[in-house]
Amino acid sequence: MSSPSSVAPVDSAVQPTAPAGFVGKLIVFCAPSGAGKTTIVRHLVGHDPRLAFSISACTRDKRGRTEEHGKDYYFISVEEFRARIERDEFVEWEEVYEGAYYGTLKTELERIWATGRHAVLDLDVKGGLSVKRYFGARALGVFVKPPSLDALADRLTARNTDSASSISSRLYKAGFELTFADKFDAVVVNDDLPTAIAQAEKLVNEFIGD
Ligand code: ADP
Ligand code: 5GP
Repeated sequence: MSSPSSVAPVDSAVQPTAPAGFVGKLIVFCAPSGAGKTTIVRHLVGHDPRLAFSISACTRDKRGRTEEHGKDYYFISVEEFRARIERDEFVEWEEVYEGAYYGTLKTELERIWATGRHAVLDLDVKGGLSVKRYFGARALGVFVKPPSLDALADRLTARNTDSASSISSRLYKAGFELTFADKFDAVVVNDDLPTAIAQAEKLVNEFIGD
């Protein structure tokens, strides 16, 4: 059985409330694993108080001590994830890697919008396109592209968070994901990080208004 607190965020204590008439938007970042979307998303959310990170539910193990339940993900069991699918609690969900489920909870978006902020999502490509279909013009889809597959391999290795087999499955999937870049509203090439961040900030400002 899931407990209601299993998907409450770590920082849920005191939050502002949305002004009357506020319509929350979604900014969805998609990329092959290792392209740098977490780095870009964390920067945006950390520097722009109008934005909040949408914490996904997932069934993979936490990465050592670097990840926290309710901050990076809601780490839940496969059984709980399946029960939540049955109860139609997800906007979208995917088995991103074999046996590893990831999904965006409707309650998570409502939680963010209730605070008057726009949601920033870090999703795989299929999930991103599902969100675009679900929310239409209320969502901006941004594809983050690595400069090359070699650079992606180097980044995944240097990040030192995944096993060799996890890195090879991520690289295998990356070739396929790159073919979807032109289905997004915008593409940011993450070669030089400050340049990529500046481009992402510009896209966000244009989408939600300065
Ligand atoms: P993702 O969320 O897409 O899996 P991360 O944000 O975790 O990717 O980035 C993967 C690794 O690459 C991290 O170690 C990060 O510090 C590094 N990185 C991110 N952007 C760049 C860049 N422009 N140049 C070099 N390394 C980068
Ligand atoms: P990681 O295990 O490296 O944190 O994430 C693996 C992949 O899952 C990344 O491409 C990430 O964007 C994606 N992901 C994270 N949360 C979700 C989600 O809620 N839905 C979908 N479809 N993908 C997600």
